[in-house]
Amino acid sequence: MNGAAHITLVPDLMWHRGEFRTGLAVTLAGDRIAAVGPRDDAAGPRTLLPGKALLPGLVNAHSHSFQRLLRGHAQVQRGELKRSDFFSWRETMYRLAASLTPDDLLVVARHAFTEMLSSGITAVGEFHYLHHCPDGQRYADPHETSWSLIQAAKDVGIRLCLLRASYLRAGAGKPLQPLQRRFSDGSVEACVTLTTDLAARVAAASDGRVTAGIAPHSLRALPAEAVVQLAVAAQRLDAPLHMHVAEQPAEIEEVRSEHGNTPLAVLASCGVLTPRFVAVHATHVTAAELDAMASAGAGICLCPATEADLGDGAFATPEALCRGLSLSLGTDDHITMDLLRQAGDLEMRERLRQQHRLVLPRAPHALLDAATAGGASALRLPCGRIEPGRLADLVAVDLEHPALAGWEPSANALTACLLYSSGSATVSDVWVAGEHLVQSRGHATADAHRFAFANLARRIWS
Ligand SMILES: [Zn+2]
Repeated sequence: MNGAAHITLVPDLMWHRGEFRTGLAVTLAGDRIAAVGPRDDAAGPRTLLPGKALLPGLVNAHSHSFQRLLRGHAQVQRGELKRSDFFSWRETMYRLAASLTPDDLLVVARHAFTEMLSSGITAVGEFHYLHHCPDGQRYADPHETSWSLIQAAKDVGIRLCLLRASYLRAGAGKPLQPLQRRFSDGSVEACVTLTTDLAARVAAASDGRVTAGIAPHSLRALPAEAVVQLAVAAQRLDAPLHMHVAEQPAEIEEVRSEHGNTPLAVLASCGVLTPRFVAVHATHVTAAELDAMASAGAGICLCPATEADLGDGAFATPEALCRGLSLSLGTDDHITMDLLRQAGDLEMRERLRQQHRLVLPRAPHALLDAATAGGASALRLPCGRIEPGRLADLVAVDLEHPALAGWEPSANALTACLLYSSGSATVSDVWVAGEHLVQSRGHATADAHRFAFANLARRIWS
């Protein structure tokens, strides 16, 4: 898909330099933003966007697209009431993961990515670990399932950072469980070789809308020396480095018994914490660990809806924001694609915890930043802000949507309405690389992808 030619968008409001402003226009040239300035100064063809506010495209920094199939089905009790937690959910997820073919992954990802686009998400970091056949044998092309995800992104137009995950064991000294076999490349060397090879092939074949990153799955699934080798590869490739960290207390105890320390302390001592490193979840962390993350310039990706869905616990958002940590957001298991509401939920869950109001520093603006610029930083993509030189990934929200009625005259009230009330229901139009993919809430192939997905879900769950 080619980017649009020179065009100037003229909305009523634009999110620029951390707030909504009036009187601005943005000029797109190909896949980039060429200029931002007073609407009266803009030259060339114009597209007026009356009743619209323009935002940078939202960035979803953590996704497992196949888990979209779990929505609804993993939320209900089957049989007699018994304790359910992350690990019982994981058994359901593993059984699903083992049942999917590369064609199934294509079908799921096409729908999940379209749903993301329609919710205002223009870029996604796909943390991908279903690499091989269910019995662990390789496909004829070892990147078969990665190509499914890349094809899905190209088909619907979303920007994709494919974070190829490495996974070698069930835990310290524990061999892979049968349902984990398709995650594993078999050795540290194979993990590095396949990851590096995929990154090179993506770079050679992409128009820039698909990039590659590196994802050691977790310290539970990998020995520390493997994480270090993958971190070295990420540095060599100048790629993002993402890892699940401290999601569950049981995981922390496992790491403690192997290494004598917590996951973040182990990663710090290995030199893995750098500005390219993003800890996904980091739910159970100490103040000292947040200090170490902040001084290393490392980021944290929060997945509030998934962390609530799985009963993980609540992240220390105020402590992270006070330290200036770079936060991003992910939809992870996709119980919802509404990244705006998930950003707002970070404030709401703190109100519940602290039993008072208006808790987070610089909220809601800092939270909208996490959903845009924070995600761009996590995926090392030049998007996330409406500034010259950045990628032309943009979202328009409908200021005449009933859920937004009454925000005027305070643009601050609009930000609060979007994050705490309306969420992505107000998204009307979406551009990726200057291409107008969602127009008046419609995406050209959404229905076809939804029908195919629904048929697959019926086959899986019947
Ligand atoms: Zn995850």
